[in-house]
Amino acid sequence: MGPHTSADADLAILLGDRVVTDPSIAASYAADAYPQAAALDGTEFTVVRARTRQDVEATLRYAASHRIPLVPQGARTSTTGAACALPGAILLSTELMTSIEIDPVERIAVVGPGVINTDLKAAAAEHGLAYPPDPASASMCSIGGNIATNAGGLCCVKYGVTADYVRGLEVVLPGGEFMRTGRRTAKGVAGYDLTGLFVGSEGTLGVVTEAVLRLVPLGDPALTVLAVFPTLEGTLGGIAALRSTRHTPSLVELLDGPSIAAIQAYGDYGFPQDAGGVLLVQSDRPGHAAEDVQGYAALLTSAGATDVAVADDPTEADLLLEGRRALNPALKVRGPRFIEDVCVPVGRLGELVSAVHEIAARHGLEATCSGHAGDGNLHPCFFYDETDPASLAAAERAFDELVRASWELGGTLTGEHGVGQQKAPWLAEELGPAELARQRAVKALFDPLGIMNPGRVYN
Ligand SMILES: Cc1cc2nc3c(=O)[nH]c(=O)nc-3n(C[C@H](O)[C@H](O)[C@H](O)COP(=O)(O)OP(=O)(O)OC[C@H]3O[C@@H](n4cnc5c(N)ncnc54)[C@H](O)[C@@H]3O)c2cc1C
Repeated sequence: MGPHTSADADLAILLGDRVVTDPSIAASYAADAYPQAAALDGTEFTVVRARTRQDVEATLRYAASHRIPLVPQGARTSTTGAACALPGAILLSTELMTSIEIDPVERIAVVGPGVINTDLKAAAAEHGLAYPPDPASASMCSIGGNIATNAGGLCCVKYGVTADYVRGLEVVLPGGEFMRTGRRTAKGVAGYDLTGLFVGSEGTLGVVTEAVLRLVPLGDPALTVLAVFPTLEGTLGGIAALRSTRHTPSLVELLDGPSIAAIQAYGDYGFPQDAGGVLLVQSDRPGHAAEDVQGYAALLTSAGATDVAVADDPTEADLLLEGRRALNPALKVRGPRFIEDVCVPVGRLGELVSAVHEIAARHGLEATCSGHAGDGNLHPCFFYDETDPASLAAAERAFDELVRASWELGGTLTGEHGVGQQKAPWLAEELGPAELARQRAVKALFDPLGIMNPGRVYN
């Protein structure tokens, strides 16, 4: 099949089979995991699948000289519309750049941006090392996307987020210039932290073509406690109780009653239908995980859990997480929804959960509230009827009110998913004029033509 846009034809001369010329294959690059992403067909944009840094350089040179918007793409699991197609844009996928080199002495990995998170974990484990950041999408998402969103995940409560593991980057800048930031060494303070600037920049400053990542010694296989509480208040009390332990859990996840109901409607994962909430808690502390989970179980029982299961072998421990893993597909099946990513100080989590349910009730909507409770980062969802404009408008108002409630509680509109297209309208208010002006100046310095992922983060 021949090229279908003039950019395709020109780029095909430059890049040969890196350019996708079949519109039905191109169409598969149109959407990410943002439920509200606009549906475009494969003739409305051009897809380039880069294999090398030189491919990326040629594409960015071409985009700048023709002033064509460019959307960097990893594995397209963004929930905020940060990686979905724009009309007339070049979608530059780095999914084929999958090199992995592990240096066990320096405890670093040097990887291509297309490496899938769990593939890096597996490669590191062969050397007795671990790459901790673990978004719930770890088996699908790429390191390039993780860096560009500063991805978090389930184990951040103990291990931190992606930014804590990125030492250096190779990036191609708008116009095609190539730059290395950061270092391979454990320490280094030469100049401004441009590596940190690129982490979380959501494809608005350049394209990551290689990353130097810090690895840590592999922990013990995690063991799990699953605690069922009769009320949501009791569940929140359980989270507070865990804050008193000296040995930080490696995972603290919350499911509220409506989340549990959605999971049970999706499949029988053994949760009681009348539970007010469930906490999943893990420890991977070398040599002490079994002792830790017994300690967490005792704390949670004292806090009011009525049913506490402790898995003291890794296989059973993993099985206890099955229900949590079913959450995302269960919510997708449950119906159209707005996904929030608010993060508040852990001590104010109870107020955040109350706000979710109060806002939903006031607008006549159904809501679920679940997520990474150990970090104060939840993913409440407001469900709506897409055939009813009033229901959609109510969900939009609820989304806005919850963002504002999070600000009131000292929090942020996004803990880990990023701003993307979805939350761009709120960014200016969260940052304030002084910071926004500096952020816009930085964006203009790197991307004076404004062609890198336009409309995402800044609108
Ligand atoms: C079921 C599910 C569960 C999830 N759970 C979590 C979670 O627990 N924690 C979490 O943080 N996120 C989570 N996410 C969101 C998502 O997986 C993350 O944001 C992830 O980091 C995106 O990676 P990706 O490879 O899919 O990137 P994409 O979605 O393709 O892109 C995301 C952003 O990165 C940019 N980008 C991608 N590659 C590059 C590159 N090479 N150079 C420059 N910019 C680039 C894109 O332009 C875009 O702005 C979840 C998503 C789903 C669908």
